[in-house]
Amino acid sequence: MTFKELEIMEPILRALSEKGYTTPTPIQQQAIIPALHNKDIMGLAQTGTGKTAAFAIPIIQQLCSDRPQEKKREIRALILTPTRELAIQIDDSIREYNKYTRLRHTVIFGGVKQHAQVNTLKAGVDILVATPGRLLDLIGQGYISLQSIRHFVLDEADRMLDMGFIHDIKRLLPLLPKYKQTLFFSATMPDSIASLSRSILHKPVRVEVTPVSSVVETIDQCIYFVEKPEKKDLLIDLLQKERNKSVLVFSRTKHGADKIARILSKAGIGSAAIHGNKSQNARQRALSDFKAHTTQVLIATDIAARGIDIDQLDLVINYDLPDVAETYVHRIGRTGRAGNSGRALTFCTQEEQPMLKDIQKLTGRKLPIAN
Ligand code: AMP
Repeated sequence: MTFKELEIMEPILRALSEKGYTTPTPIQQQAIIPALHNKDIMGLAQTGTGKTAAFAIPIIQQLCSDRPQEKKREIRALILTPTRELAIQIDDSIREYNKYTRLRHTVIFGGVKQHAQVNTLKAGVDILVATPGRLLDLIGQGYISLQSIRHFVLDEADRMLDMGFIHDIKRLLPLLPKYKQTLFFSATMPDSIASLSRSILHKPVRVEVTPVSSVVETIDQCIYFVEKPEKKDLLIDLLQKERNKSVLVFSRTKHGADKIARILSKAGIGSAAIHGNKSQNARQRALSDFKAHTTQVLIATDIAARGIDIDQLDLVINYDLPDVAETYVHRIGRTGRAGNSGRALTFCTQEEQPMLKDIQKLTGRKLPIAN
């Protein structure tokens, strides 16, 4: 299947082809046509599946075909996402797909001054990407009205709930117009998400890709049984063998992430850590240096890494095992995207063995031991 067969308009096709996207991903194949026909979507898909384009393209196209606005430009599409990193990434993707359609879009999130965001909003935007807190804040101050929203995306709904945004979402929903298109995406579907989706979707088309346990099939994984004091030497050793490769290292704690960065710096390996105690600017800088291959190693906690999108990630190293088995799948899903081969190495101490067991149960396979 090609993008052309998905009824996508010429200027967007051109932008996609310039990005080198030749074939739509499965979620795009399923979601784009119904979304273009203004249907509600219930999408079960995690980051890495191409879901951003699956909702962004139909929104851009529909807004372009809508009657041009005679009066002041009003926000017609709202994309709500849990973290700043995701918000920035979605806005970046919109910029690319919108290259030749030139709708106005912007992104707002907390942790930075609001002045610049407010100025852009005042100039008028068609598409707004937002995290819930800052959105409510600016609505409260009268800078944003949701009255003209025709397309609403709730992205990473399960993470929203995990991160405690349910009250914010419940405050936002009544501020949206009754008649609108809603595109709902979640990586998992626990009861709480199913009932939230039922309450906001109208006759949704259900689209679903790669259940959590099968994502891992394409990724080459193995385990190192180590004790805690040996982890750092093993990490240095492995990274020295992976020179020039982009490696994402996961730490369970913020403190641990900083400690790993210090150890690597002593060993002469360029790295940066991202976690919730770092300023927004420091996090963005670390991420862009890593994407530009100026730093080889990025050390992240799970929250900070949520949804960060890095092309050509060669290797994921789990310095610590996560408490929740699904997190393992989310972590390693950062490598081996879009058909590329990926690798994931996991350090496991005696203490961490019960977590390893959970992961093996979830993924239905025994992880090979490194030799
Ligand atoms: P997402 O799941 O939206 O975070 O997208 C994951 C990655 O896949 C991003 O780096 C996208 O830029 C990329 N991507 C999205 N659609 C395609 C496509 N049709 N072909 C190749 N790469 C894509």
